[in-house]
Amino acid sequence: MQKGNIGVTTENIFPVIKKFLYSDHEIFLREMVSNAVDATQKMKTLAEKGEFKGELGDLTVHVNLDEKNKTLTISDRGIGMTEEEIDKYINQIAFSGVNDFLNKYKDNANAIIGHFGLGFYSAFMVSDKVEIITRSYKDGAKAVKWSCDGSPSFEIDEAEKAERGSDIILHISDDCKEFLEKDRIQSLLNKYCKFMPVKIAFGKKTEWKDGKQVETAEDNVINDVEPLWTKTPSTLKDEDYKKFYHELYPMQDDPLFWIHLNVDYPFNLTGILYFPRIKSNIDLQRNKIQLYCNQVFVTDQVEGIVPDFLTLLHGVIDSPDIPLNVSRSYLQSDRDVKKIATYITKKVADRLNSIFKENRKEYEEKWDDLKLFINYGMLSQEDFYDRAKDFALFKDVDGKYFTLDEYKTLIKDNQTDKEGQLIYLYATNKEDQYSYIESAKDKGYSVLLLDGQLDVPTVSMFEQKFEKSRFMRVDSDIIDRLIVKEDIKKNELDSDQTDNLSSAFRSQMPQIEKAEFSVEVQSLGENAQPVIITQSEYMRRMKDISRYQSGMSFYAQMPDSYSLVLNSDHALIKGILDDENAKCGEALKPVISEIKGQQARLSALHQSQSKKKPEEITQEEKDDLANTEKALNEQRDKKKQIISDYAKDNKIVHQLIDLALLQNGMLKGSALDAFIKRSVALIK
Ligand code: ADP
Repeated sequence: MQKGNIGVTTENIFPVIKKFLYSDHEIFLREMVSNAVDATQKMKTLAEKGEFKGELGDLTVHVNLDEKNKTLTISDRGIGMTEEEIDKYINQIAFSGVNDFLNKYKDNANAIIGHFGLGFYSAFMVSDKVEIITRSYKDGAKAVKWSCDGSPSFEIDEAEKAERGSDIILHISDDCKEFLEKDRIQSLLNKYCKFMPVKIAFGKKTEWKDGKQVETAEDNVINDVEPLWTKTPSTLKDEDYKKFYHELYPMQDDPLFWIHLNVDYPFNLTGILYFPRIKSNIDLQRNKIQLYCNQVFVTDQVEGIVPDFLTLLHGVIDSPDIPLNVSRSYLQSDRDVKKIATYITKKVADRLNSIFKENRKEYEEKWDDLKLFINYGMLSQEDFYDRAKDFALFKDVDGKYFTLDEYKTLIKDNQTDKEGQLIYLYATNKEDQYSYIESAKDKGYSVLLLDGQLDVPTVSMFEQKFEKSRFMRVDSDIIDRLIVKEDIKKNELDSDQTDNLSSAFRSQMPQIEKAEFSVEVQSLGENAQPVIITQSEYMRRMKDISRYQSGMSFYAQMPDSYSLVLNSDHALIKGILDDENAKCGEALKPVISEIKGQQARLSALHQSQSKKKPEEITQEEKDDLANTEKALNEQRDKKKQIISDYAKDNKIVHQLIDLALLQNGMLKGSALDAFIKRSVALIK
């Protein structure tokens, strides 16, 4: 008796199979039907080679449910087995093979699961007893019946069977009653056997007759023996591909493009991959690429086999060369599997490239839907980036498309700053950022529309890949600082005036949740807006990226930081400044001179104390410093108060702030209400 770490012996192998494979119980049906299909195909081969001269007859594999006797029977007209063959293929492999195998892999439950995931034994996952009634195609062969109840002992008897082939009779156990339900079997056949290469019939077709479902004489064939991917691409039309797509994914819209894969060296692989039109993330999760092995469905978990970004595609891949009964981590490190992934990537890129070249118009029309896949591919795979950079597109705010190179040529002359950096301007929302886009266009700049799901990381990638290039959102600075071409004209106000002006606005900024404003004064020209709000590219980008990357949640917590830029050239701003000077100039004068006096005193104190060691500074001196600071702060508060009292009643300050907020969609609730009322009052 053999003993392994997981306590498996030949005597109790069946319970082990049951336990380990619990989640995959249903695959028994795939195994039984594919054995039947194999036996049938062997029969065909023998006939083709002339080694079998009799009638092949109808080769349909039949799956029949007998709910009364609790059996599920899979019958074929394949090669059948002689008694010796049963012994060799079923008994030996089933029993002695297990022993060797368990000895070898006794420490590795995964390998055991992998091994037993396939094969005839899986029948015991769902059956109390399994019978094989079979008759070999060989001349004079006698029918035999083999039966086994899951213990290692089995019986072989003579049997009555007129036809060549095998009936596998599964006596379904009580805890697997689901496999006696017609619907369940129908859906399993649909999942695993839909494209097997030999006709498979599940009972008979039914029809409505006299208000009842009645069986007809016609077989209920559940599969398509020649699925589209097995056919020669040149014989197929667009309609065929679309039709097949809808067979696979009934609820989907037409696909954007497809790629028919067909290789036989250095590995065997066929299939059709579709670029779907994605309406929601749910579509991405629900519909997956299906992996087949010689038309037998294996899995729709293709991670590791297909490059990561292509798992978003739909379709089928069929390859007998993908090792299936190994663990996923092994699969990912397997060289052949890597080759397959590389091949698929190359094929997909080639196909996209040729569609782009041959029919750019159509390609552009589909770009918005296609973009997600291509961006994801470029982000996740270097070799795909290298290919895709030739057919990836930029779209501008006017809906025009450019390749990366074309776009660079377009903006090179006008959008290079004085440091030689090429600045790509973009908007993420045409409506929200309308006036910023317009002011960029007025300068003759081009603005990209980057509103896709993956544009944030894609922009960072481009900045790394492109030389001397930066991406700036149109509202991230005033137009002259977005692309700095020459030193910007300073505002002509002195520091006191600048300070008075910005204080007036700062004192009236409403509290906005999760937003912080700084106020600055700039000379933007008479025709520019009096007040605009900008949002620093850097902080905004960090916050955006933090949504994609873990470990950056720090940024996500930070408030959005905006700048309220006052245009010192604008008549309204000038007017406010004059008015402010007239109304509070007198009141401010003594305060400002007091502040200056205190500031001078403070810096003298700092200077004298900085020459001394800390222990040399007397208490008196310390008090002096503290008192001066206090006095200075008091004066500053006083100044703030004077300005705030003034600004509070200045409708133009409020109106300008609100207009700037409104332009950025930040004016809401009571502030919006106040703005509307004030506006109405101003019109009156
Ligand atoms: P595998 O199919 O991977 O070889 P199985 O455990 O499923 O392993 O089957 C073992 C063998 O039993 C097969 O290789 C085949 O020779 C024989 N066999 C199983 N089912 C049938 C069948 N329906 N008709 C003829 N031979 C069969």
